[in-house]
Amino acid sequence: MADGKTKKRIEELVKLLNYYNYMYYVENNPVVTDYEYDTLYKELAGLEREHPQYRRADSPTLKVGGEPLKKFAAVRHMVPMLSIDNTYSKEELLDFDARVKKITETDEKNIEYAVELKYDGVAVALIYEGGNFLRGVTRGDGWQGDDITENLKTVKTLPLFIPYKKPLEVRGEIYMRKDIFMRINGEKKKSGETPFANPRNATAGSLKLLDPKTVAKRNLQLFAYQGIAENGAATHWEMLEFLKKTSFPVNPHRKLVKNIEEAIDYCVQWQSKRADLPYNIDGMVIKVNSLALREKSGATSKSVRWAVAYKFPAEQAETTLKEVRVQVGRTGTLTPVAILEPVEVSGTTVSRATLHNFDEIKRLGVKTGDRVFIEKGGEIIPKIIKPVPEKRTGNEKDIPVPHECPVCGGSIVKDDEGVALRCLNVRCPAQVKERITHFTSRDAMDIEGLGEKWVDIFVDKKMLSDYGDIYTNITYEKLMDLERMAETSSRNLVEAIEKSKDRPLANLVFALGIRHIGIHASEILAEKFGSIKELGEADEETLSSINEIGPVMAKSIADFFRNEENIRVIRKLKDAGVKTEQGRAEAAKSDKFAGLTFVITGTLSGYTRDELASLIKKQGGRVAGSVSGNTDYLICGADPGSKLDKAKELNVKILSESDFNTL
Ligand SMILES: [Zn+2]
Repeated sequence: MADGKTKKRIEELVKLLNYYNYMYYVENNPVVTDYEYDTLYKELAGLEREHPQYRRADSPTLKVGGEPLKKFAAVRHMVPMLSIDNTYSKEELLDFDARVKKITETDEKNIEYAVELKYDGVAVALIYEGGNFLRGVTRGDGWQGDDITENLKTVKTLPLFIPYKKPLEVRGEIYMRKDIFMRINGEKKKSGETPFANPRNATAGSLKLLDPKTVAKRNLQLFAYQGIAENGAATHWEMLEFLKKTSFPVNPHRKLVKNIEEAIDYCVQWQSKRADLPYNIDGMVIKVNSLALREKSGATSKSVRWAVAYKFPAEQAETTLKEVRVQVGRTGTLTPVAILEPVEVSGTTVSRATLHNFDEIKRLGVKTGDRVFIEKGGEIIPKIIKPVPEKRTGNEKDIPVPHECPVCGGSIVKDDEGVALRCLNVRCPAQVKERITHFTSRDAMDIEGLGEKWVDIFVDKKMLSDYGDIYTNITYEKLMDLERMAETSSRNLVEAIEKSKDRPLANLVFALGIRHIGIHASEILAEKFGSIKELGEADEETLSSINEIGPVMAKSIADFFRNEENIRVIRKLKDAGVKTEQGRAEAAKSDKFAGLTFVITGTLSGYTRDELASLIKKQGGRVAGSVSGNTDYLICGADPGSKLDKAKELNVKILSESDFNTL
């Protein structure tokens, strides 16, 4: 393709993809299929790779994250990011209204307010110049924050390019949806890492990461709630409408009210509705709508006088701590769990709470039998906030710190971070069960029918002492000897076990249960090493030189393969016929189609489009979404669309499915 054409095509694709993103993420109204989006996206990424000089600052490919940073630079805010005072009652809100009237010396009987949700996330300032997203900064101390521009570029709802060319500063909140939070914590737990306490911590933690590619995977979102610009807006409401038109995500749950009483009503409404939102809010924000009045009301050194937050009362309850059970995880971590007298907190019955670790128990000074306050805030699992010592009867008992593993009696140590206790016995039945359950789970070997319940039984009956035994010790005959096993389920389980021997290498790497190694890291390792043998032979230095594999992960992998016990179990897997290297499909890679661009149209008979595309890619070719001067071949199935006409027009070679197969 001629250079001018390439540049134009890149512009076209960027514009189109940004529009699709906007419709998808901001308007919640997708206008193309994922397949169409992906093919266009791949075409753009390919063109940018070949012609980096034409890469645009507003390209959606930037959303996957740029190069890692060494550290964040400190930046001074042009307009200080002052905080907002909190209120907790109707009376305090009435006081706020009276104060605003007094300071601004207004004659109005009523002040108009804008009422918005108060997000439980991280506040940021976004600077735009000439329509481009220039810089994004954290609040910091209100006067100076961290430049986290590269991380913010990965936020899908944050526009990199806007139609407004004059200087604009947008204030907003970066947040994480509850479902994403659950998913990330699930992954963290699986790879033996400490989960985030709540979505806000997860958001803050993600924004502090130095590798934008990792940030991109956290799926952070933005709500814009303030604009600073000389655009003629007279009210905050107009400013919000302007931001919305300028393609910023502005939350639809907001209200313009005539007076403080209406504002209070709206706040109370959301108190009961907030659980239905897909993200956390911890209150409402009430802002003076007139920008002129705002100017008049001014600020103290710490907070603005024209806005106030109404915080929802924390969802707390009092109950009795019946006992503390110690759970032993896959990597041996001992976690104390509080068993509570069941109690209702904001609509759900709570009977367990987390105590994190034994230092936390000491810090709280809580005893078994205590009356305790529990809170269900942004956290998904409720926590104990404090005991009520005044209500003690003298029958409460200290919670002992274990000196040995409560399950196997083996010795325990404090882990690397000096907080959690860990059982060192690799044969510890609790750990064995957790490891086997992990091995059989969906992202691992995906052995359906071998869940927690059966793993418990098999380990207790000594049929399994590690996951290597699965392939030799679980036979149809043995299963039929068990009381509760039916014929069909026995047969199905044996089949599922047999089938799992061919799982892709990445899933096997994950299944091994190496500490800190999640499914994503496993994919990287599988691709890099191609076999368990090669992976096991790699030293720490080699491992940590791989992109996205940090020193902690590298050490963990090396430690794993230094352990005789682990080597023995891996040998069992190999001997049983579990595939420990990448299949032939990968080995068949060639560069037959290198430099060639294919476009696929119509309905194929022998392949799905994805299969055909991946076949072409394996041979080094490229698959584009639409026909252009850059296309070498159009593969044409039944009922082709306009792509065929375009190809004819551009003299692109046209192949039928069988032509392609011969090729
Ligand atoms: Zn143990």
